[in-house]
Amino acid sequence: MSDNVYSTICPGCNFGCGLYIRENDILEVDFRKSSPANAGKLCRFGMSLPRFYKPVKSIVDGKETTLDEAAKEAAKRILAGKGSVAFLSSGNTTSEELLAFQKIAESYLCTGVNFEAIPKDVYQTISVGIPYSDIEVAKHIVLFIDPYEQYPLIVRRLLLAKNKGAKITAVWWKDLPLANENIRPDQVLKLQVTKDSVIIADFHPFSDIEQVKSVLALAKNAGAKVTFLKPFANSTGAYILSKDAKQKSLAQLIDDINKGTIKTLFALESDPSVLIPSDTLSKLTNLIIQTGQEVSAKANIIIAHEPMYKKKGTLINNEGRAQALGGAGTNGLEALGTIAGAKFDFNELHESVKKSIGITAVDEFTIPKYDRPAYGEIQAAPKPLEAKPVLIYVYNPFMWFNLADDNDFVELNLNTVRALKLFKGGILKIKSNGSAIEKKFKVAPVQDNVLLTGKSFGKKGIITPVEISR
Ligand code: SF4
Repeated sequence: MSDNVYSTICPGCNFGCGLYIRENDILEVDFRKSSPANAGKLCRFGMSLPRFYKPVKSIVDGKETTLDEAAKEAAKRILAGKGSVAFLSSGNTTSEELLAFQKIAESYLCTGVNFEAIPKDVYQTISVGIPYSDIEVAKHIVLFIDPYEQYPLIVRRLLLAKNKGAKITAVWWKDLPLANENIRPDQVLKLQVTKDSVIIADFHPFSDIEQVKSVLALAKNAGAKVTFLKPFANSTGAYILSKDAKQKSLAQLIDDINKGTIKTLFALESDPSVLIPSDTLSKLTNLIIQTGQEVSAKANIIIAHEPMYKKKGTLINNEGRAQALGGAGTNGLEALGTIAGAKFDFNELHESVKKSIGITAVDEFTIPKYDRPAYGEIQAAPKPLEAKPVLIYVYNPFMWFNLADDNDFVELNLNTVRALKLFKGGILKIKSNGSAIEKKFKVAPVQDNVLLTGKSFGKKGIITPVEISR
């Protein structure tokens, strides 16, 4: 293999798909058939990686500089802002960098998700999913996701299970073609779950926590297996490594920035503009972003280092499988050392990562043994939808990374099209909280009063009440 081909992992979600990135004048993606998570296959996002990896430059207050100078200036401002600095990393970088980051972030660590609102005894169940091979042999699978849009590589596993006789039930706002049974989320009482069922849901910064709790309660009461898929390449690693840290939720972070108690935000490999409203970000005195690819947030300081495919380090996928990135780069770790005022040793951090998941060597073909401890009774009170139009974000890798997606339309049902007298090929006008957008639409078997979109419009959770017209 030549020097400019990297065996790496797709950063699009926590599924852990392996691939090769070939660096010529342009970036190219090659398939890695030996990869245990995806057997070489990639979704639309994985195929779009050359577009995702846009180069980025180190900047301080609008002026281009070196990585080292940017890191030194960031260190100065973080020290000066002590007591009003927050640290955000949603888990889109190596476990070794995340460990170093945690040492810096002791006072205010945000992984973007709301573990504060969930009982401690479900932490492990949410953090580490089940092996994908368990899905293939399940007798009954219950989906609380749209696998085609959100985690496409799981479709292959679902079809294998179905070919072996599994029944698939989708609890979703739209009929899913691979499901034998489609139940709307507000009719979840019709759902029959047994100990032979495997429940597949997801967990992310905008998850409705009552919904997450109700999925956990459903699994517990039936004795069913449950797995939560996640949107960032190393979400599982981030949660395992942060299990003893005091984590703040994204909502708390937003609140603290709005109140002015947090004035400096340091984001590691996370684009804050995807997670935090722009009017909140504009209240910060300093936004510092350390990243390997272009971000859309306007930062005071950008510390630019190698992209993920050139990094050395370990990712942990949704099954808990440890996977080595194929690069040799440690610029990110060195920048974190400058900020901490101490040198981080990659090998030491790597040993700690292996210890935390109970392995002696990183082997992507063997899933480490994880406990799946029982958890106590869970009370959940998910809110039913009001009988008014709502726009529901079906978060997908393009949305999480602010990458333009060709699938920029909303899905609605024929009743809505007829009621609004929409024309084929026409435009749908959507208004919410004083903002208005025009969108192409597609007719699909969607629930009444529901519009589904793969492109966000506002950042207040998954469901947004809207007014619609033609
Ligand atoms: S399923 Fe996730 S990890 Fe796999 S190619 Fe798509 S975005 Fe990448």
